[in-house]
Amino acid sequence: MQTLYMDYAATTPVDPLVAEKMMQYLTPDGCFANPASRAHMLGWFAEQAVEEARQVIAKSIGCDLREIVWTSGATESNNLALKGVAEARQSQGRHIITSAIEHKAVLDTCGWLETQGFDVTYLKPDSKGVISVGQVADALRDDTILASFMWVNNELGSINPVLEIGSLLRENGVIFHVDAAQAGGKIAMDLAHMPIDLISFSAHKFYGPKGMGALYVRRDPALKVAAQMHGGGHERGMRSGTLPTHQIIGMAEAMKIAVDRLEKDHEHLTRLRLQFWQGISELDGVSVNGDLESGYPGILNVCFSGVDGESLLMALKDVAVSTGSACNSASVDPSYVLSGIGLSRNLALSSLRFSWGRFSTLDEIGQAVTSVKRAVSALRS
Ligand SMILES: *Cc1c(COP(=O)(O)O)cnc(C)c1O
Repeated sequence: MQTLYMDYAATTPVDPLVAEKMMQYLTPDGCFANPASRAHMLGWFAEQAVEEARQVIAKSIGCDLREIVWTSGATESNNLALKGVAEARQSQGRHIITSAIEHKAVLDTCGWLETQGFDVTYLKPDSKGVISVGQVADALRDDTILASFMWVNNELGSINPVLEIGSLLRENGVIFHVDAAQAGGKIAMDLAHMPIDLISFSAHKFYGPKGMGALYVRRDPALKVAAQMHGGGHERGMRSGTLPTHQIIGMAEAMKIAVDRLEKDHEHLTRLRLQFWQGISELDGVSVNGDLESGYPGILNVCFSGVDGESLLMALKDVAVSTGSACNSASVDPSYVLSGIGLSRNLALSSLRFSWGRFSTLDEIGQAVTSVKRAVSALRS
């Protein structure tokens, strides 16, 4: 029995073109040297490859190459952005604004900052999982130094109005960080013209390797990010550690492919979501958590009333899906994201997240629909 992979929001497979390119930067006959080695040509070649990759990323998201800091993923980027800015700006204030449905990498970092004397406001999204500009305006205080909102929510696919929120924050002199782990390579970005100061990216969410990411840090003398990893002073002192050449090459190649096919991929996902929803909405008592109209088309969170999500997950042996974010799948508590948009415990525990991607096919969607309908009917009878 072949497993249908419908968990692209947890991670994507590496695009074979990306893997092929990465292979050239690992082995003895490849470009394997330490990019920080200044004493020989092999080091220079590696450094050159890293800087070309930096340029590819910068061009793809419309920023300067000096604004990219390589990290190990969005978790690290979020930690660096939030802790780094909080540390650097604490003399100007200690208030931070975020939302209750951010990824744990933001929420737990904010929780830690609270233990260090910072005050964090957690805004509650509307029933579709969206934070409004008005809510952010109401939460602003004289001592607000930083705000952090995700671009696309990883459980719902809901999209925040980050440009409107950013304009408001900029008018008020508040630094704005965006967790774009689910938006990078999927939503067009032109950062030089967007009111955002810091953005987190993760390569494995757009067909690049796991353990690789970046933090965009806008070039502005007023924006300081205190290092959270000390050592050799790599990445202009913001993030020490030998640069993983093959990972960086992989991320850049994945970003280049993603940006080239942005519209094509988006259309493909929209078609898949439509077919999936048309199929399963023939069942009674199914509803979308989040919003079918405005959400990112690669993610669909569905509530099957009267059906236990864990049992459905087990019954769907041939479909790889998730009850929420992967990080929480060991616990039986309902997803805090679903609770956060006002779902009752019962409805939240009756929900599954389906997510598809570039390599998903209409045929797979059809098979998944058949499996879901059969499993739901069996569990209900
Ligand atoms: C996956 C994800 C992260 C964590 O990224 P890693 O690179 O796996 O550390 C953070 N935020 C969101 C919204 C995500 O989807």
